[in-house]
Amino acid sequence: HHIVAVKNLRHVYPDGTTALRDVSFRIHHGESVAIIGANGAGKSTLLLHLNGYLVPTSGEIQIGDFPLTKGTLPQIRRTVGMVFQEPDDQLFMPTVYDDVAFGPLNLGLTGDDLDRCVIEALERVGARHLVEKAPYHLSGGEKRRVAIATVLSMSPDILVLDEPTNGLDPYSRRQLIALLKEFRHTRIFTSHDLDMVLDLCERTIVLKDGEVRADGPTLEIFQDE
Ligand code: ADP
Ligand code: ADP
Repeated sequence: HHIVAVKNLRHVYPDGTTALRDVSFRIHHGESVAIIGANGAGKSTLLLHLNGYLVPTSGEIQIGDFPLTKGTLPQIRRTVGMVFQEPDDQLFMPTVYDDVAFGPLNLGLTGDDLDRCVIEALERVGARHLVEKAPYHLSGGEKRRVAIATVLSMSPDILVLDEPTNGLDPYSRRQLIALLKEFRHTRIFTSHDLDMVLDLCERTIVLKDGEVRADGPTLEIFQDE
């Protein structure tokens, strides 16, 4: 059964730029998929569609059992956890606790339940010790892990990460890859980090000029490219 289905997705920005021409693919529950391609190929635009930050010019997106529409948007946003390329876009509260608690609090969690949820999400990314810190003062690798925790605290079925190893030192990068390997979620990454893709993703989709140029087992794709 598919958890993500993208069908004939086309996106034209208001200035007339066609970022996605005709993109179709389906992703199975639990798959780990990389989306690669040159700058400007349409990767970020595609990710933004996966939880409804953009409205398709034409085409359809289905997440789980729901077609993505205005009406299903809240449900879709809970199903798809989006980790942005810049952790600073995701961390805006005075403490790490507040940032990780923000989503679950909005869903109505309070008191001990909220505390448990926050601590559990931080533990999963190895960042429990940062709970009282100000996100602003964290290192790049710490920020990245906390940004992932803010998404995990919502228990998403699908984790979407835009260039997760971008800007990390080699040690933080290795730590992050190890952590992402452990998740049982469906994972969708964009990345220029081909070693990470080889390590984490059994499947790779190559975008070129807004179209799917190749889609298959990562090893085969890398041999052909
Ligand atoms: P990638 O993530 O692969 O680098 P993008 O999805 O960011 O590709 O961009 C795809 C194309 O859409 C590029 O030509 C880019 O310049 C253009 N684009 C991206 N965002 C906008 C925007 N807000 N308005 C107009 N054009 C955009
Ligand atoms: P209908 O079945 O009548 O098309 P929908 O619920 O599918 O109704 O869509 C209602 C409106 O929501 C449409 O104007 C559509 O453009 C808009 N819409 C569709 N997808 C999104 C999205 N991802 N984010 C915001 N609005 C959307």
